[in-house]
Amino acid sequence: MRLVLGDQLHCGHSWFSMVDPKVVYVLMEVRQETDYVLHHAQKILAIFAAMRDFADYLRERGHRVRYVALDDPSNRHSITGNLTALAAHYCVRRVEWQQPDEWRLDALLSKWGGDQSYATEVVDSEHFLTQRSDLAEQMQCRKQWVMEYFYRGMRKRWKVLLDDAGEPEGGQWNFDHDNRKRWPGTPPEPQDWRPLHDHRSLWEMAKGAGVQSFGDPQADAIRWPLNRKEALSCLEAFIATALPYFGDYEDALAAKGPRLFHSLLSFALNVKMLNPLEVVQRAEAAWRAGRAPLAAVEGFVRQILGWREYVRGIYWAHMPGYEKNNALSHGTPLPRWFWSGDTRMRCIHLAISQSLRTAHAHHIQRLMVIGNFALLAGLDPHALHRWYLGIYIDAFEWVELPNTLGMSQRADGGLIATKPYVSSAAYLQRMGDYCQHCFYDPKQKTGIRACPFNALYWDFFQRHFPTLHSNPRLALVYRQLKRMPETERQALQGYANHLREQLETL
Ligand code: FAD
Ligand code: SF4
Repeated sequence: MRLVLGDQLHCGHSWFSMVDPKVVYVLMEVRQETDYVLHHAQKILAIFAAMRDFADYLRERGHRVRYVALDDPSNRHSITGNLTALAAHYCVRRVEWQQPDEWRLDALLSKWGGDQSYATEVVDSEHFLTQRSDLAEQMQCRKQWVMEYFYRGMRKRWKVLLDDAGEPEGGQWNFDHDNRKRWPGTPPEPQDWRPLHDHRSLWEMAKGAGVQSFGDPQADAIRWPLNRKEALSCLEAFIATALPYFGDYEDALAAKGPRLFHSLLSFALNVKMLNPLEVVQRAEAAWRAGRAPLAAVEGFVRQILGWREYVRGIYWAHMPGYEKNNALSHGTPLPRWFWSGDTRMRCIHLAISQSLRTAHAHHIQRLMVIGNFALLAGLDPHALHRWYLGIYIDAFEWVELPNTLGMSQRADGGLIATKPYVSSAAYLQRMGDYCQHCFYDPKQKTGIRACPFNALYWDFFQRHFPTLHSNPRLALVYRQLKRMPETERQALQGYANHLREQLETL
């Protein structure tokens, strides 16, 4: 018996290269997985629909499949409960599973396997470009686990964007300084290339089974790919229409461009419909064919070959325990508008309502809008982690946790981020048009119309002086604070205290 988890829909896995009638593949929809955190409705629907499609794919190829649906009366609603029952039913001699990506499931299955009388075996998921322990081994002698070193090693190891001499194409590893522009409104955001799926009956079934969720189920029109074929056509559409501008507008924010030139491939990648190397190589081929500039392609490659593998390495190097980090001792509960988007801060309103509507927000919305505010306001990083894990279509703990707790909230004490990702309104105003038509004024620091990011920004650095002032990357901020007249400093601090007491009404 072989278990296929909901994020292991990898049809190229060597398991499936041969049909063996003695092997039964098991997929299951269980309350354990719908309920461990409150999920966005689209996330539940997209994963179940993709799992069902994958089961059909296996059956069509002659594999034996046991699919335990959510409303199956025999469903025990726990992965190991179902495995035990099915193992007895099929009189199995051996149970195999692929390495789970989440520590929680890895520990659960290992423990369960150890208690069984039959043989159990864990095999590679054959998806990632590194082993779980590679990053830790590579970084063990370094004080800071800088992503850039890891990324360069990955470019060499996988021979991506290298010239014949093994040097980086274009003479440099990183084209970040060419990227990061504000989007002027042209070229237009590409049409949404993703397929439309009607999941109404699945939604009725999930509701009928009592699954709790939040966000818009859009059950008649979900746009997440169901299978590899659809994922590949999304990849092609991205390469053709958005990749050429990916780098330029990677960091932009635009009220009229919720997707901008991002790939929207994270769901397909994380459930393993797409392989990271094929995505990276496809982007490289577009550059070699003259269809996308090097800076854009390098920027995109860095996200997948670099960041994605790097955060996974961080996760496995520090789990269990990483999830408990709270280096800045933040603990304010999330305001209710995290579940409604109902705030006068236009940047937050746009990013959260888009997330509730589509189960997606791009990186800068996650990092520099929502995450930025949460860090400045001192929100509880663990509550925030659960919110991010629930709301985004691509959220699986191995990638979400290091991004939220580490990169965004610096709760790991600076393991990932060399300085906190925070800004005042000036940055948000520079990177996009969110501040236009906002109730708040990005230029004002105190007073009823002052943008809350401003006072909270200075207050953050004052409050965390003992922890942060010796960070060389923050020397400028602390010099500015020192030069500030005492009365102004106090006014900012007083106003920030007031804001932190009034979070619900901002
Ligand atoms: P693009 O902008 O088109 O990027 C291409 C691909 O690069 C993505 O599909 C993704 O696979 C990869 N990538 C980009 N940035 C990162 C990163 N920082 N870490 C890992 N992979 C990256 N990504 C997730 O896949 N799941 C999450 O749960 C998740 N949570 C996040 C939480 C926070 C607080 C932050 C700041 C970032 C998070 N990210 C997460 C990273 C990133 O925001 C998303 O991968 C990206 O927005 C997905 O949209 P896209 O496919 O259009 O990405
Ligand atoms: Fe956000 Fe402040 Fe700009 Fe309003 S003024 S959109 S709250 S940064």
